[in-house]
Amino acid sequence: MKFHHFPALLLITLISCTSVKEDRNLLLIHGSTMGTVYSVKIVQTDLTRAGQDSLTISQGIDSLLITINQHMSTYIDSSEISQFNHYDKTNWFKISGNLMEVIIASQKISELSDGAFDITVGPLVNLWGFGPEHQQSRIPSDKDIDSRKATVGYKNLFIQENPPAIRKGISAMYCDLSAIAKGYGVDRVVHYLEKRMLKNFMVDIGGEIKTRGLNQHGKTWKIGVSTPDNSDSIQKVIPLSNLAVATSGDYRNYFEIEGKRYSHTIDPRTGRPIEHTLASVTVIHESCMLADGYATAIDVLGPDLGLKFAEQLELPVFLIVRENDRFSEKMTDGFDKILKQNQNGN
Ligand code: ADP
Ligand code: MG
Repeated sequence: MKFHHFPALLLITLISCTSVKEDRNLLLIHGSTMGTVYSVKIVQTDLTRAGQDSLTISQGIDSLLITINQHMSTYIDSSEISQFNHYDKTNWFKISGNLMEVIIASQKISELSDGAFDITVGPLVNLWGFGPEHQQSRIPSDKDIDSRKATVGYKNLFIQENPPAIRKGISAMYCDLSAIAKGYGVDRVVHYLEKRMLKNFMVDIGGEIKTRGLNQHGKTWKIGVSTPDNSDSIQKVIPLSNLAVATSGDYRNYFEIEGKRYSHTIDPRTGRPIEHTLASVTVIHESCMLADGYATAIDVLGPDLGLKFAEQLELPVFLIVRENDRFSEKMTDGFDKILKQNQNGN
């Protein structure tokens, strides 16, 4: 049995370990958060112009991410979402504005994708060994899948906006925000840097990315989309100006039994890992939170329905599809436009 769990290697690293590197052109901040790594690149001249110092900025980002994790992480037993998950009543449960924002966006993506994206899929994610329950990778019994599936369904999660509160329709319900929280984290870090008058930077949490302004060479930031085979090669380079990009795929977090791949993306309708030829989905959006959520939704929908969904919502989306021994590419008109717009640019 093969087991690939790259981002999850750092899953329980709660100890913050930020590193800061500086050269003449760029300030580079690295750290770990949300079971993965983050990096922030800030153009040095921008930092000087805004009168900011690297240590204050790196500490500010680090503590912001710790706070977000404390709201969103199912790996932290005392986090806000874990407290809701432990709460076994169906009464209203007061939540923070931060959590509310992510839950409202999640429910919107669930409705649009007809339940392909569903944060209440958590019990199934855990059953398949991709959540904090840390089970061995194995194929669960049909009986276990069915009993967990009975607790899943975004329509059983109710929202009250004022004051912010949520309510379970089924007391055993459990929410997993892993498919959207990294994108939210990126948006919040970008907002933090903008409030400090910074204009030229890039924020990356586990491959969910947002850029502002230009890079250290005065050119458009370029983002590489990996070839979905863990070979470290780049399939496509996206010029990204003042937008966010998120990628979901079946090539980083999965296990394999008898040559069959079991992805960490679960189809809530079958209760099982997705089974189709879509290897990687990249979504561009102004909001990194939405890009992250849509990428997971399209990953569940698969190459054909996923592309249709993206075209309907006019999302710039790039798909890499497995075809025997090779990969083929598909993209929406919006994605093609972004590539072409920048072809003659810098
Ligand atoms: P990555 O972490 O590789 O960026 P995603 O953003 O697609 O990937 O998030 C995948 C995670 O989302 C899974 O590990 C699981 O915790 C959760 N998840 C799995 N299936 C779904 C789904 N159908 N809807 C919402 N969340 C999901
Ligand atoms: Mg996602």
